[in-house]
Amino acid sequence: MMVGRSADVEPGVNVSPDWWPETGRATHAVVDLDAIAANVGAVQAHVGDMSVIAVVKANGYGHGAVMVGETALRAGATMLAVACVDEALDLRDAGISAPILVMGPADPGEYEAAFAAGIALSVALPEQVAVAGEAARRVGTNRSLVHIKVETGMNRYGAAPSDSVELAEQIVRSDTLELGGVFTHFADADGSSLDFTDEQVRRLTDVVRQLDAAGIDPGVVHMSNTAGTLRLGVNVSQAVRLGIGLYGLSPDPTIPLLSGMRPAFTLRTRVSQVRQLRSGDTVGYGRTWRADDETSVALLPIGYADGLRRALSNTGWVGIAGTRASIRGRVCMDQVVVVRPDDRVSVGTTVTVIGEPGTGAMTMDDAARLAGTINYEIATGISGRVPRWYLGEGRVVARLQRGTLERFDRT
Ligand SMILES: *Cc1c(COP(=O)(O)O)cnc(C)c1O
Repeated sequence: MMVGRSADVEPGVNVSPDWWPETGRATHAVVDLDAIAANVGAVQAHVGDMSVIAVVKANGYGHGAVMVGETALRAGATMLAVACVDEALDLRDAGISAPILVMGPADPGEYEAAFAAGIALSVALPEQVAVAGEAARRVGTNRSLVHIKVETGMNRYGAAPSDSVELAEQIVRSDTLELGGVFTHFADADGSSLDFTDEQVRRLTDVVRQLDAAGIDPGVVHMSNTAGTLRLGVNVSQAVRLGIGLYGLSPDPTIPLLSGMRPAFTLRTRVSQVRQLRSGDTVGYGRTWRADDETSVALLPIGYADGLRRALSNTGWVGIAGTRASIRGRVCMDQVVVVRPDDRVSVGTTVTVIGEPGTGAMTMDDAARLAGTINYEIATGISGRVPRWYLGEGRVVARLQRGTLERFDRT
């Protein structure tokens, strides 16, 4: 069995790739920060002069926003982007001083706290600019940054292209705001045809041209998500917003990642009990699986409340000693039963639930396909109950557990 040393015992101790924590909950995730850094590096090499904005919304797609954000910045990302103000404030509270953009709409009551923390907000409506201007005045100090979100085809959040120049003029006229950027979001950059994406690029480029003509500096122009980053030519704008690719996951199974990119996330647990079933015995709620024969099964302390989707009942599998062990019966809230591949598997045996294929486990993409969803939803669905251990440069560098990030000394 693979047993390593715990960071609580020896802070920053060197660990092997098959390190396991000795303390804390059996069910845990390991986040490979070297993979995060490698993903930023590969994308930066691909996009040339464009800068990389690391998207760490939804707690860094379930990986933990603070450690991922810090790692991405160290690897060359110039800005972090999140969906809402609370996510941005969490990053500031953790000591991250880099530029942060909130991509989604903020509520009027959130502007002041965001600006006071030096967070850039996105705006799409004249009344938002008015509220932002007043909030920025109350905060005082320097001008507060806003980015205009331009709606070019998603029909979600954003200003119509025809309203964007007027919005920019309103920002420029205000004596408390500064236009930090102009951006849009692609509706179909992972689709089979890029025609509509090209059209969205044209619509935003046209807005930027109008701003230039009006003598307005647009700030940083950014468009591409991961799919656009991987599939469009470079220099379509000044920056890309890298989300799913930051985590080494592809926006769509048909879109290859760049060489050097790899997943950062592994979900693991340990066997908590083994049991011998007789022919006719059933497993779990609703008795959806019945043993035809003598069958040996293993219980794992992980369930849908941890993010192991209930849709994986009787279809998913985990990896035990490099082989697949199928899920039997329904995934419960906190536990799941799997086939016990051989009798060496006993209480305490290590299990990979989501990870590299070599472990025998489902990949994030396997889990998504089997659950009828996308890898984004699997990753963001790993709950706060699962401790995250962070490994970087062969060391345990931090642990996020019970909502608290604990860093371990590197020396
Ligand atoms: C989530 C999000 C992204 C990142 O998208 P990925 O497909 O994960 O790369 C970029 N821009 C906006 C506005 C987003 O909401």
